[in-house]
Order: sequence, then structure tokens, then C-alpha cells
Amino acid sequence: MLDQNLKTQLAAYLEKLRVPIELVASLDDGEKSRELEALLGEIASLSDLITLRLDGDDARKPSFAIVRSGSDVAVRFAGIPLGHEFTSLVLALLQVGGHPSKESQELLEQAAALDGDFSFETYYSLSCQNCPDVVQALNLMAVLNPRIKHVAIDGALFQDEVERREVMAVPTVFLNGEVFDQGRMDLAQIVAKLDTNAGSRDADRIRARAPYDVLVVGGGPAGAAAAIYAARKGIRTGVAAERFGGQVLDTMGIENLIAIDHTEGPRLAAALDANVRANDVDVMNLQRATRLVPADEVGGLAEVQLANGASLFARTVILSTGARWRQMGVPGEEQYRNKGVAYCPHCDGPLFKGKRVAVIGGGNSGIEAAIDLAGIVAHVTVIEFADKLRADEVLQRKLRSLPNVEVVLNGQSTEVLGDGRKVTGLSYRDRVSGEDRQLDLDGIFVQIGLLPNTEWLADAIELSPRGEIVVDAHGRTSAHGVFAAGDATTVPYKQIVVALGAGATASLAAFDHLIRHPLPASADVPGEAAETA
Ligand code: FAD
Repeated sequence: MLDQNLKTQLAAYLEKLRVPIELVASLDDGEKSRELEALLGEIASLSDLITLRLDGDDARKPSFAIVRSGSDVAVRFAGIPLGHEFTSLVLALLQVGGHPSKESQELLEQAAALDGDFSFETYYSLSCQNCPDVVQALNLMAVLNPRIKHVAIDGALFQDEVERREVMAVPTVFLNGEVFDQGRMDLAQIVAKLDTNAGSRDADRIRARAPYDVLVVGGGPAGAAAAIYAARKGIRTGVAAERFGGQVLDTMGIENLIAIDHTEGPRLAAALDANVRANDVDVMNLQRATRLVPADEVGGLAEVQLANGASLFARTVILSTGARWRQMGVPGEEQYRNKGVAYCPHCDGPLFKGKRVAVIGGGNSGIEAAIDLAGIVAHVTVIEFADKLRADEVLQRKLRSLPNVEVVLNGQSTEVLGDGRKVTGLSYRDRVSGEDRQLDLDGIFVQIGLLPNTEWLADAIELSPRGEIVVDAHGRTSAHGVFAAGDATTVPYKQIVVALGAGATASLAAFDHLIRHPLPASADVPGEAAETA
């Protein structure tokens, strides 16, 4: 199962095991069980601290538990965690085997102290980029806290279960039998959701922060670049981000980041995070900004209000809140989101194996999605609003070569149809004939572009008719001391390399602003007094 190179690497990792572990397999006569037995046998052969047992009696077959010998510390996988989940398997082996996690001590203690009995089940697919974070976070929680149990289930292998529980997007996490959440989550997010007092503790900590010279709002490529450039000037720099990493976290392969042949979104996001933290930046993750009050005098302090009720103050603010998937805005879309309406073909495609789906949008991302899905599902219908596809010719050529894809031009989606539990079809209008038509479908993948995350700024700075922050060549906005960068702005191209450059530009412009506008003695922190460091 594992090639020699992978075995050598895994053997090196397994040297970090501190205590003996057991792999307890539950198998049947199927081919997948034989594959799993072979994989576990290979792993066990790589370390004297690993024992393989084939006497597991779990109802899900094939599955296996990784158990710390002589204890109840365990994590469980149903299926064969290769592909994107191989890292989760390696981490689970190490952490059950006593190797410490690199997460912050504070977060580890918070997870260990969670009070209650939590039984988690996570459905993943092997091609899902968003799943490993969730699987790894819950596995770690199960290792840290004996009252937390976790099993990670390959949805493609347990199709009956997926259908019965109506799982139509991965990762989907169940807690004690009920849906807990869907989509990418990291340890901090899951712990914050379970620890009901975390929000107010966070707010108290934030209220105690001294004003920043540069406060960056948003932690994607633009925000990361802005923060690093600011910190390297030796000035007090903070980043508040709802989800550090931004869209990069939802991206598969990245092959146009100059000087890097190929990388993957989560890997790039981790590199941005490490790079920011290696500089002197105060990173405040999981913080959503809800209002900006620009300084009312040049050189004064701007206020950024957060969803948890606390405020941050800064001499300059750099807005880099990026963008999010655009929705169709038709009846049924919200009701059937993650119940057949999906936005990430790489993640959720495998759950629609052998079924009929539509892709809404004929741009590059729509046609790439249709090509991807055509290899998995029975049939794909592409619905494009305009009278021709907008994707690159090379993609269109590939699409035309596929026997199970049909393209509808001049199609305006009008309603997502469902049976109350899941999608059953789509209504659309033929914009030429005016006729209403209906497709019978199991899934609808929406690929119609992005919307800037700027609604919270409407009363503070100038936005374009599309809702983008209007910036000049220096990243200056309409408000003194407020700069912006990346996909949230009027910058013409929305790309990682463009966002990185724009973040650097905005940061240098903010520094220039600080030099030219020293803080006047009268600039007190508005509202409640903040302690200064
Ligand atoms: P984002 O990456 O969107 O980051 C925004 C940040 O702001 C996030 O941290 C978010 O949580 C935070 N935020 C949002 N609202 C708030 C708020 N109110 N308060 C606090 N924080 C907030 N580009 C390429 O160059 N190459 C590719 O191959 C590529 N592939 C892509 C594939 C997909 C599926 C997608 C979705 C995008 C892809 N892109 C690619 C585009 C690229 O990811 C973006 O251009 C880039 O991430 C923009 O960076 P940003 O920092 O401006 O915004």
C-alpha cells in the first residue's frame, strides 16, 4: 500500500512515539478490508511500539482504532485514511503515542478541560481539502480529553450511512448523534463552540489590548503581507481575522504563485501563519469585525468593533477582508445548502458518485468543476446565464470531449427544488424562449464568482457599486489612516500574488502615513479606557 519512500518517511516519524500503541482492526471479507489489513500491517512493521490486532468488533467495517496501550485514549477511522487524510493518520498515530501537539498550551488546556461527554463522528472524502483540519482537531481533542470520542468516516466507502443520515457535504460533523457543524473548522473554532464562556473571556483579553500603530483586519494573503511588512518596521502591529488563511484554505492546487512550482491551499495558509507569527505580530484569530469608526482627526485613533463586543484601537487600519462564494439568490438555495447545494466540487464531488448534478456558471471555475465532476458523477448539466461560456478555450475543448456533460446557455436558475430534506432538481428559465424548464438532480454546484466581505464598512468608507473598497494606487481609502488591500478592494485582478503585493503596498503606505502624522497628545482611546502596554 505504501511505497518505499513513504515507508521510510513514516518510519522516521514513528521514532517520535513515546508509549506503545495498538491498531485494533474491525474487518470483513471485502476487498477494502484486505487493503486496510495490509496498510495496518505495514505500519505496525515500522515500529516496535506498534501492535496490530485483528479482533475489533466495531459495526463499521473496515475500520480501526488507534489505542494507547493500557488506557482509554483512542481515535478511530472508518475506511482507509490515505489521500488528504494520510497526514491525519500519521498525526493520530503520533499523538495517541504520546507525541505532543504544537497547538498553544492555552488551547490544549482549554480542550482538556471541556466538561461533558462528547461523541463526534466526522464524514470526510479523500479528495476534501477542508476535511483534514477537522479530523485532526477532533482526534487531538479525543487524545487530550477522555470524555471526547471521535471517529472519522470515509463517506465514499459508507454510502448507505451517508444517504441515511443525508450527508451531502464534507466535512460534516455529528455530535452525540446530531449535526454539529459542516465545513472547515480548526481546533480553536471547535473548542470555542463547545466552551460557552470562551467568547466573553476573549472579549476581556481584547479590551486590555493597547492601541496599535497598524491594525490589519483580515488574515488572508493580503492581511498576512500587510502585517509582516508593518511588523518589520518595528511598529506595534495586530491582525484580527475571522478565519486566518482566508480563501487560500479552500483552494486545491496553487500553481501560479511565482517561484513556487506547486503548493496546496492549507499548506500555503500554514506558511502564511508561521511567517506572520515569526514576526512581532499580535494575531487575534476567530475575531469578526462588525464596525469601523475612522479617526475623526488626522493622526487620531480609529476604532474597530468586534462581534464579541470588544473594540480595538489603532493609528492606522488596513482592511483586507477578502471575498466569499457568491450565491444564486433563488428560493430553495439556502434551505438546501449542504443538502445538495454545494460550493466546493473538490470537497463534495465524491458524495454525488453515480448521481446527476448541475454546475451553475460557465466561467473557468464552473467549467473546471464540471470537468472534475464528470469523472465521478453520472451526468453534469452546466447552466450558463450568458449566450456563451466564459471559460478559457482549452477548458471548453476538454468539456466538449466528455460524453456525460451537457451545456445549457441562456439559462437563468429560478428555484432549487427539494423534497423538504434534500435537493431533487432545479428550475430555470430559457432567456431566449422565455420557457420555464426543470431538471431532475441530486446536486447543484454553484460557481458564479465571489462577493467582497465589506457589508460592515458601508457607513465608514467609500465602496464601489459592486461593494468593493475604493482604493488608490497606494491602497488609501476615502478615510484618513484607513488603507485596504486584496480581493475586498477595487484592485482589478483577484489573485494570491496580487493580494500579497497589495498588502505590502498598503502597509508601506500606512507606515508613510504614521511618519507624516505623529500621534497628537489629545488622541485618547474613545469609549472605555484601554490599558497601554
Ligand atoms: P481572503 O483570502 O478572502 O482573506 C480574507 C480574510 O479576511 C480572511 O481571514 C477572512 O476570515 C477575513 N475576514 C472576512 N471578513 C472579516 C471580518 N468582518 N472581520 C474580520 N476578518 C474578516 N488565486 C491564485 O492566485 N491562484 C489560485 O490557484 C487560486 N485558486 C483559488 C481557488 C478557489 C477555490 C478560491 C475561492 C480562490 C482562489 N484564488 C486563487 C484566489 C485567491 O485565493 C484570492 O485572490 C486571495 O485569497 C485573496 O486574498 P485576500 O487576503 O484579499 O482575501
